[in-house]
Amino acid sequence: MKEFDLLARIRRRVALSGAADDVILGIGDDAALLQVPSGHELVVSTDTLNLGVHFPDDSSPADIGWKSLAVNLSDLAAMGAKPRWVMLSLSLPSADEDWIESFLDGFLELAEQHAVSLVGGDTTRGPLSISVTAMGVVETGKALRRDAARVGDDIWVSGSLGDAAAALRQWQSKGLQSAKLRYRLDRPTPRVEFAGAIAAYAHAAIDLSDGLLADLGHVLVASGVGADIDACRLPTSRTLNDHFPDDAQRWSLQLGGGDDYELCFTASPADAWAIEQALAAQEVPATVIGRISAEQGLRISDTEGASFVPTLSGFEHFASSADPTPSKETH
Ligand code: ADP
Ligand code: MG
Repeated sequence: MKEFDLLARIRRRVALSGAADDVILGIGDDAALLQVPSGHELVVSTDTLNLGVHFPDDSSPADIGWKSLAVNLSDLAAMGAKPRWVMLSLSLPSADEDWIESFLDGFLELAEQHAVSLVGGDTTRGPLSISVTAMGVVETGKALRRDAARVGDDIWVSGSLGDAAAALRQWQSKGLQSAKLRYRLDRPTPRVEFAGAIAAYAHAAIDLSDGLLADLGHVLVASGVGADIDACRLPTSRTLNDHFPDDAQRWSLQLGGGDDYELCFTASPADAWAIEQALAAQEVPATVIGRISAEQGLRISDTEGASFVPTLSGFEHFASSADPTPSKETH
């Protein structure tokens, strides 16, 4: 199949879902024309996923499709934006018809869930690499930024932490593998509705792609503050608890491992009740795990209140000790 046929397939699949009225011109011209509603700002984010770096080489094409969109929608959610449009740049070793159809199954399933339109992209031959640009809208001046945490704020996280890192750990060690944990690695849920519910109260927000320590660290540096985290309060799935019963090992995965795609945000303790109310209708829980302080740095305490030092810290591409095996995002 030639590039042209591949594109025709993509166009056909997109046409089936019908055009949104904020897409004036979608796939097919030199560029797309999009309508940003008045009183709103355009929010744009790009993330690339490479085979062997961002997903295990046994990932299904549908999971790769889902995840390549999910990580981008997660970035928009972390800005408090409503996702609207997406561009897809594919580098593929061959024009494999079955692969592209399965990829689109995963990609478009998530796009439809959020009424996001695929409005263009690029298709080239090369090593497998998927680059997605997601665009959304936010009311002017209302975006959630990293530099807005205030001393005394509660630190909240959505959902639960550590499942994806645990799955990666199990996959790398080639031992027992939990399908539930692996699902959390392959099919992260971007917290779009959650972000909408807390947007009125949140000061700073970030999505957790590289691990809580690394990502919360970005908020602290940008905001010029510090934080105290209570490891016992990290939200934990039952599956993670069952597979990693040792506190120190589990906490290290939850603090240092990545790929959770949960949201971390800060808000005034005075708004805690209102936040609980706003989230009451959501399936996703939210947990206060610590507090912003004037003292710089990030301190973690364990069950006895002693300081806890995790064995993993946030993943960094190009780090000198980088593990050559498939690892995780730095989005
Ligand atoms: P050009 O040569 O003008 O850059 P292309 O042949 O690259 O045009 O693309 C033709 C049209 O198809 C454009 O509207 C482009 O946005 C869209 N397109 C190309 N690849 C993809 C893709 N992987 N997903 C969605 N749209 C795509
Ligand atoms: Mg092009």
